[in-house]
Amino acid sequence: MPVATQSRPVAKQVESQVPALLLRVAVPSPLRRCFDYLPPESLAPAAAARLQAGIRVRVPFGKRELVGVLLATGHNSHIEPKKLKRVCAILDEEPLLPAHLLALYQWAAAYYQHPVGEVFNTLLPVALRQGKPAQIKLRKNDPKPGMDSQQSTRMDNPVPNQEQQTAIDTLHANLGRFTCCLLEGVTGSGKTEVYLQLIAAVLARGQQALVLVPEISLTPQTISRFAGRFNCLIAVLHSGLTARTRLNAWLQAGNGEAGIVIGTRSAIFTPMQKPGILIIDEEHDSSFKQQDGLRYSARDLGIMRAQREQIPVVLGSATPSLESLHNACAGRYLHLQLHERPAASKTARYHLLDINGITLQEGFSPLLFDMIGQHLRQGNQVLVYINRRGFAPTLYCGDCGWLAECRDCDSRLTLHRTPPSLRCHHCEARHPILPHCPRCQSRNLLTLGLGTERSESLLQSLFPDTPVIRIDRDSTRRKNELNTLLERVHSGTPCILTGTQMLAKGHHFPGVSLVAIIDADSGLFSPDFRGQEHMAQTLIQVAGRAGRAEAPGEVIIQTQHATHEVLQTLVHQGYHTFALKLLQERELADMPPFSHLVLLRAESSNSSNPERFLNKARQILHRLCRETDTAGLMLIGPLPSPMERRAGKYRAQLLLKSRHRGRLQAMLTPLCAALETLKESRLVRWSIDVDPQDMI
Ligand code: ADP
Ligand code: ZN
Ligand code: ZN
Repeated sequence: MPVATQSRPVAKQVESQVPALLLRVAVPSPLRRCFDYLPPESLAPAAAARLQAGIRVRVPFGKRELVGVLLATGHNSHIEPKKLKRVCAILDEEPLLPAHLLALYQWAAAYYQHPVGEVFNTLLPVALRQGKPAQIKLRKNDPKPGMDSQQSTRMDNPVPNQEQQTAIDTLHANLGRFTCCLLEGVTGSGKTEVYLQLIAAVLARGQQALVLVPEISLTPQTISRFAGRFNCLIAVLHSGLTARTRLNAWLQAGNGEAGIVIGTRSAIFTPMQKPGILIIDEEHDSSFKQQDGLRYSARDLGIMRAQREQIPVVLGSATPSLESLHNACAGRYLHLQLHERPAASKTARYHLLDINGITLQEGFSPLLFDMIGQHLRQGNQVLVYINRRGFAPTLYCGDCGWLAECRDCDSRLTLHRTPPSLRCHHCEARHPILPHCPRCQSRNLLTLGLGTERSESLLQSLFPDTPVIRIDRDSTRRKNELNTLLERVHSGTPCILTGTQMLAKGHHFPGVSLVAIIDADSGLFSPDFRGQEHMAQTLIQVAGRAGRAEAPGEVIIQTQHATHEVLQTLVHQGYHTFALKLLQERELADMPPFSHLVLLRAESSNSSNPERFLNKARQILHRLCRETDTAGLMLIGPLPSPMERRAGKYRAQLLLKSRHRGRLQAMLTPLCAALETLKESRLVRWSIDVDPQDMI
């Protein structure tokens, strides 16, 4: 006691004489706040006062040392200065990120309710997270950067058609300020050509372009299309790179050496010295939304970023998301459309193939085999789309009805032939194939349903002289395997391509004249409110692979619901009309984009804990509603997740819905603060998903 009374005034005195400079640091920790530190002792006060936000610092944290980002300096802390620890080391001389991006990422932390330190940890390249120096180190055979990006355009551009020219001119007039533009153009209508010509204009202004593409479309073909047009340095960013390559690309974007930055979702965080345009290709693609950790939408964050950087953002798609389409129709976005395919290529013809009452051979109708044969004989290529990998999605006993199910998930095991195994597609479970039924010992084990492996072997047996190329996650697991397969397709000789979603995105298959969609029905009756939107997007995207060259394409859709309004509208009136109808339904149902959603998820190995936790959350929300003006908040749940058990955990969810984004947002910070202190929160793993893309 006497010690305390003695030391207090001393501390006060010191504090009032020389107010200590405090460093506010985003430290990677699950706690939703920043931490204050004192400058290192070795740093002179004058030098400490010059420290800039955006540099990295190494700090003591519990028993460890962590790398954090300095967000601000100041003199007020909730903590007494003598209790503050000192920063161990200053890692950068110059800020890694400009002030407006620091602010944007703090906004993202608040918007997505993710701890700010982890946000910075997510967005920095691994090497920087680890505290490595922010220096470009090129190996001997790396291309030398620093080419003059102003003299960078090669001269062999096609002449834009009328609609392309209008799009280019409109966007050109908007360079140098913020606009959001939806470029809606059927597949092959020349959207990429519009991007390329805009990029040329941006480079000519001495500025940089940032291009985001879906995970699956960032192929060497995509990059070489950009590289073939421009001489400037192109920084490529995706998760498959080594830490060193990624760091180099990040720094070359940040210092302005790279004229073009092209990457997947997380490339949205890359700093650029002279930003000129942001292009988000296939903006509807679900890979732009991160599904764990910082659950951000690169598209939405991109729009915020473009606004802060005062540059145009172009959202390109043949099948725009309902959100973007709604914004475009409401006049919030510029809406540019490309209806025609340029030059010789023609739009495909669609046929709905009613399979009611038809005996199918492993999922294929005889008519479809005939058509495949015809197209092959004409020297063309054929694409067969199946939404499942593996051989068959169901294995069962023909005698007692036993089903092969995953022990840890509410899901069936998929039979795979290469390598032979029973696999769960929801957890990592893998089992050997059984010689007999584990329940009745019968050897009469049967399969049901069609996966890509089965399609491959069936097609190969029916068309023994034609190569069958399977493209799915299993056949392209090893590095460069996808490219080897794609090269075989691009050689142009007749072949059958069969595969999953991977075929639907970004690839150009000029030799394909027939596209077959084996099962359109699962998406028609999906429990997810976005099910029909996603089904339509996939269908139109797959179909868009056909008829890119001179041969007019044909698209066959096998269905048991040929008269279903959704399919009819889609096939006869096109995606745009279909999407407008779906928007009307969303409005009636008060679903996005007419309302805003936040999904609170919880999981536990105990079956009742998630619901107990979410019921508490519900009570907290009711209390917050009474205290603040949050009329219009609707709570749905707690309910078991659509797949209740996954990887051994029971899962439940509570959906928050409101027409007022601002009021919904305002509840989230007090909600999370209250949830963190709940004792029930220690019994579950919980997460919050703002603007969720899927409800699983
Ligand atoms: P999208 O990005 O909409 O799928 P692309 O820009 O890839 O379309 O164009 C499809 C094909 O048409 C490409 O081979 C491209 O080179 C070609 N193309 C685009 N615009 C023109 C044009 N104005 N004249 C001739 N060919 C064009
Ligand atoms: Zn059996
Ligand atoms: Zn499983």
